[in-house]
Amino acid sequence: MENIAQSVVRTRVAPSPTGDPHVGTAYMALFNLVFARKHGGQFILRIEDTDRARSTEGSEKAILDSLGWLDLQWDEGPDVGGDLGPYRQSERLDIYEVHVQKLLENGGAYRCFCSSERLSDLRSEQMARKETPRYDGHCLSLDPEEAEERGSNGTPYVVRLNVPTEGECIFHDELRDEIRIAWSQVDHQVLRKSDGFPTYHLANVVDDHLMNITHVIRGEEWINSGPKHILLYEAFGWEPPKFIHLPLLRNPDKSKLSKRKNPTSIFHYRDAGFLPEAVVNYLGMMAYTLPDQREIFSISDMSETFDHSRISLGGPIFDVSKLKWLNGRYLREQLSANDLLARLGEWKFNDEFLGKILPLALPRLETFSDFSPLASFLFSEKVGIDVDSISGKLEPTDASRLIKIAEWELEKLREWKGEPIGNVFNRIAEIEELKLKQLMPTFFVAITGSSVSLPLFEAMAILGPDLSRTRLRLALEVLSEAGHGLSKKGLKSLEKEYQAKYGNRID
Ligand code: GLU
Repeated sequence: MENIAQSVVRTRVAPSPTGDPHVGTAYMALFNLVFARKHGGQFILRIEDTDRARSTEGSEKAILDSLGWLDLQWDEGPDVGGDLGPYRQSERLDIYEVHVQKLLENGGAYRCFCSSERLSDLRSEQMARKETPRYDGHCLSLDPEEAEERGSNGTPYVVRLNVPTEGECIFHDELRDEIRIAWSQVDHQVLRKSDGFPTYHLANVVDDHLMNITHVIRGEEWINSGPKHILLYEAFGWEPPKFIHLPLLRNPDKSKLSKRKNPTSIFHYRDAGFLPEAVVNYLGMMAYTLPDQREIFSISDMSETFDHSRISLGGPIFDVSKLKWLNGRYLREQLSANDLLARLGEWKFNDEFLGKILPLALPRLETFSDFSPLASFLFSEKVGIDVDSISGKLEPTDASRLIKIAEWELEKLREWKGEPIGNVFNRIAEIEELKLKQLMPTFFVAITGSSVSLPLFEAMAILGPDLSRTRLRLALEVLSEAGHGLSKKGLKSLEKEYQAKYGNRID
């Protein structure tokens, strides 16, 4: 095993708080954590919220809660603090500003005043010539003093990275050795936007340096950003950290893991009744085997023996059926009967969860034995459905369209409670000029598996956003298998129609 430098090892996971807490974030966090633990170092959680339009507080909280549920404990972070904070990028804007000024002074970056029209013309020309679209360095020829004056007179500008025109960037990845990328492939990255906010590249490099990160362990989708980062380290006169790019998790069809094909939210697995230690174990297995090849291992087993040269680079498939198999082994081999009972209670068989259901069920109960059939859909991951019942009062293809729209609309919902959920469906009915009575049977069946059940909006609130969305996805699959799904083209035109009619973006 390679000798790790004598300085204290510091690693970090740096998620952006947009959308649901992703299993990919947990996977990165795990490898960063075990690497730090193995070398007696520290593991940091940094929130990269420079994308103001997409970052939300709710998503940050979900990241903290979900990593906490998986017991991936960080030593420094926005909640626990630390000496090198703040650990939330939106609170470090003045730090980035100082660094932008340094780059403008030493020529590592320059001001660019190009209008969006010029940039889009440039892009179209390059695309027509089948070139990779990139900035052409037009504003590099401006006199820096004049550019500074124009900027201080209020002309809007962005700050771009000054990229060499010739040669190649050579950098090192601990798992891949040398990586070479021609500078001609590297765009003059915007480092600071016209609104004064830094972009990922600048903030990430500045923070990794100031937080004394020694090893950057992240997904391989960032390899192509390596040259930009290396250039920034050079321009600041800093030594870059060591890089370890992990293979990306994939869907069973080998495409990049996506929520359209697999549940990717960590909370889905919590709500569907998986054990956090089994999920973490499975994420570890994605790119790692312990020296003794055992399949069942904990975070501390992994930390004690971790050797990054054992990371395998094959495209790991995140296969839910294998995760289920592993979870089953945990239930049978790792927990005593008492533990099992306690964990089942912690999950959903507790007063709090049952107490939420009871008021909804009560008007429909004659005996206790009526409770379980009514409420069973709240304790399961999936429900059985067929095409006829899922179509309800709609044409099957319309059912597909409307389920897709509901999926998009529900993704935007900040407050997952009965009333706002109801408002989503009311809005869809109104925009689609349908009566709620026509629209709802489809959703009743998709969520509960039955056309008679508990009040739907309240039930969805109890079921939670993740399982509710999984069921909509499964309903779409059933319709699609029966030939009533949305084709690729159909989906594209639905996206357009949706954005026009509902005025919403799709993430
Ligand atoms: N904010 C980036 C992400 O969410 C971090 C990438 C990195 O680790 O540098 O993927």
